[in-house]
Amino acid sequence: MKPFAYVNPTNEKDAVAALSPDYEKALPLGGGQDLLARMKDYITQPDRIVNIKNALEGTVTPYNGGLRIGAAMKMVDVAEHADIARLYPPVAAAAIEVGTPQIRNQGTVGGNINQRPRCWYYRNEEFVCFKKGGNTCFSPAGENQFHAILGGGPTYIVHPSSLAVPFVAYNATFRLLGPKGERLVPAAEYFTMPTLQNVQRENVLQPDELLTQVILPPPGSVKHGHYEVRYKASHDWPIAFATVLLTMNGSTVQGARVVMGAVAPVPWRSQAAEQALAGKTITPQTAAAAADAALRGAAPLSQNAYKIQVAKAAVERAILQAAGLPIA
Ligand SMILES: Cc1cc2nc3c(=O)[nH]c(=O)nc-3n(C[C@H](O)[C@H](O)[C@H](O)COP(=O)(O)OP(=O)(O)OC[C@H]3O[C@@H](n4cnc5c(N)ncnc54)[C@H](O)[C@@H]3O)c2cc1C
Repeated sequence: MKPFAYVNPTNEKDAVAALSPDYEKALPLGGGQDLLARMKDYITQPDRIVNIKNALEGTVTPYNGGLRIGAAMKMVDVAEHADIARLYPPVAAAAIEVGTPQIRNQGTVGGNINQRPRCWYYRNEEFVCFKKGGNTCFSPAGENQFHAILGGGPTYIVHPSSLAVPFVAYNATFRLLGPKGERLVPAAEYFTMPTLQNVQRENVLQPDELLTQVILPPPGSVKHGHYEVRYKASHDWPIAFATVLLTMNGSTVQGARVVMGAVAPVPWRSQAAEQALAGKTITPQTAAAAADAALRGAAPLSQNAYKIQVAKAAVERAILQAAGLPIA
């Protein structure tokens, strides 16, 4: 492994000062589950790593009727926090499904949101793909059973963060801090679709900025569902999952948020599914119709068409769960 410096700042200003204006030169270290693995695999070779665990908040604070979650908070603490479980159950559900107890004990909120793609071509030093400065994505002509079925191209990664999906559904705001001060970015605008101009990145974070807090607005009286599909309930990333929020007027859906994970390069909000639910009473039929709408534009690769049905099931079941109906 290339030698690197280790910096251990005790406040967010010093942590930002230790970063670099150049990508990949100085990288924040949360739990290290992703960063250290990438360094050991020669995918990322920074000159400096900046421990953020003593510099950023690692707690939950009531904030403007909602909650503010510090980026240094451990995943296990998110999963077990009483206020998160009471006010934003899909956030707790997503956290508790992440990996294994060891991963949740070590991984942080900031690290989970900013973890890099799990694409096996990106993770293998032999493949110089778009994400590593190359000029191709190997997945369309290669092994692509876990890759994107929506929004793919020029790369076909799926965004790896489980927490990102409920955060987008709840319209969370991410607080970023850089040398020029803070900026507040809606979660849905934080994640970026791949283009040839920004193909190496998955979000708008600048190399000298930190994600410091996630701000959740008051949840209101929404009904919620969160459904993940994995191989044999294993500890691996989900094949597809969905968070659904329903605002009801009696038994009629007044408004819906439907966001899918593991299907696209970003947490994928489906306005088609939301429109399919608006004004309807939730029944197995309306849930299935909304799930069909959510996947209507899917464009699978050679080996991942099965994910369409899996994602449909995740959306449909999250809707039924939100409505308190049994899942067949
Ligand atoms: C077997 C296995 C199963 C897994 N399953 C899941 C799953 O189901 N769902 C899921 O979401 N994840 C899953 N993971 C991934 C795991 O959750 C992440 O690797 C972990 O959450 C990363 O958190 P960390 O604090 O260790 O990140 P780190 O490794 O410390 O950081 C990750 C990246 O984010 C950057 N970073 C860290 N903190 C900040 C910050 N505050 N601001 C800006 N950038 C920052 C780092 O520089 C690095 O590039 C799994 C991992 C394994 C090994």
